[in-house]
Amino acid sequence: MIEIKSAEKVFRSNGSSFEALKDVTVSIAKGAFVSIVGQSGSGKSTLLSLIGGITPPSAGEVKVDAVPVYELSNEKLADYRREYIGFVFQQFHLIPYLTAGENVMLPLCVTGKKKMDTLAEGALRKVGLDHKSSRLPSQLSGGEQQRVAVARAIVNSPPIILADEPTGNLDTETGEEIFKLLEELNGEGHTIILVTHNLELANRTQKVIQLKDGRIVA
Ligand code: ADP
Ligand code: MG
Repeated sequence: MIEIKSAEKVFRSNGSSFEALKDVTVSIAKGAFVSIVGQSGSGKSTLLSLIGGITPPSAGEVKVDAVPVYELSNEKLADYRREYIGFVFQQFHLIPYLTAGENVMLPLCVTGKKKMDTLAEGALRKVGLDHKSSRLPSQLSGGEQQRVAVARAIVNSPPIILADEPTGNLDTETGEEIFKLLEELNGEGHTIILVTHNLELANRTQKVIQLKDGRIVA
């Protein structure tokens, strides 16, 4: 269960400040599949990173499974990010000089090598790419690169997957495949939070959170 209460986020730089999130209160049930929609600049990515343990709120509270995330020590917060959260981005963010298999192993850098291979292979199998584990990202299509990114996000079996416009750089058909993959992961118990501009996809999730100028409007 994710509970955000009266969260504010103010970015300050050279004397000016910008309120990216205003009085955001929302809860997301364990195992839910929700989407976040809103215009560019409305605070969607900021809200995701708040949940992801990356961006502390300027005010308010973020609790995950009853734990106030931003009251954790730096070390425990890093554990939270590693064990609880899988991130998928619009731009895939794969390391170009590592193979698909090695990219998927990245979050496992504290795990033994043998176990890393097995876990990475399992995650790649889940996204249907175990046969391409030795390819470099440049030898994969956009949809395949995003599937590798999804495999990397799930390799630690995190309960929560945060996907920031994961279909934004893909054609409709490939985007649909990624969406179906997220649905499948949701069916296996992962909580999925999807930021998207695609209202058709958003409406297929269980709950749509609409942001406008940093506020939840629906
Ligand atoms: P969205 O993902 O909905 O497009 P963001 O959450 O990325 O919006 O950003 C919301 C607003 O906060 C934007 O106006 C953006 O410029 C601003 N913002 C985001 N991150 C920072 C930052 N690190 N410093 C200053 N302003 C930021
Ligand atoms: Mg964004």
